[in-house]
Amino acid sequence: MSGPGGGGGRRGVVLDRDGTLVDFVRDAELGVVTPAFHPSQLRLLPGVVAGLTRLQAAGYALAIATNQPGAAKGELARAAILATNDALAALLAGHGLRIEAFEVCLHHPEGGPGGEPELVRACACRKPRPGMLDRIVGALGLERGTSWMVGDAAMDVAAARAAGLRAGLLMQPGRCELCPLRDVPAPGTEASSASGALRPDLAEPRLDLLAERIVALG
Ligand SMILES: [Mg+2]
Ligand SMILES: [Zn+2]
Repeated sequence: MSGPGGGGGRRGVVLDRDGTLVDFVRDAELGVVTPAFHPSQLRLLPGVVAGLTRLQAAGYALAIATNQPGAAKGELARAAILATNDALAALLAGHGLRIEAFEVCLHHPEGGPGGEPELVRACACRKPRPGMLDRIVGALGLERGTSWMVGDAAMDVAAARAAGLRAGLLMQPGRCELCPLRDVPAPGTEASSASGALRPDLAEPRLDLLAERIVALG
């Protein structure tokens, strides 16, 4: 079970939820984009089933780590978030995919009107902090140096770095706010060291393409 880096742990891939596994809910009429908050809204993104199948077949443990501050902000019921997460795990199980750990951060540092007071606080689990990843690494016995955090946002890359995992970024063409993460920084400047810390090890537009590269890298 030991990877080439030694250490004796298993390899795993920790996945972000929204924008990585499932699409956002887009209301064209209202011009609103929200995370899925009901099982009926879950739409797996292209390449997700193929990518996860490839990783699982190659021996990677699969896990999910997601920030869901909607209940802290008063935008969603906590039960809706948890039911949607359960439905996602069941949806993936229907494709033969086993999610071995599912971590959710329900907190938000500022909250919002009507938010659940006990969820409004700074915490160690909200990405880009590494709390959820650390719990998954511990629970599944993962080897950090050969395990991955895969997401669609800079905070996913930052969380990977904070936890000592490799970072994979799903980057759609046109997501211009992420373009700096794709560039190799020029050495020696303050700006470059900041973006360098947030530079992913791999970036692809779809999970199946990213999974192929993760498996090839070993
Ligand atoms: Mg995301
Ligand atoms: Zn948290």
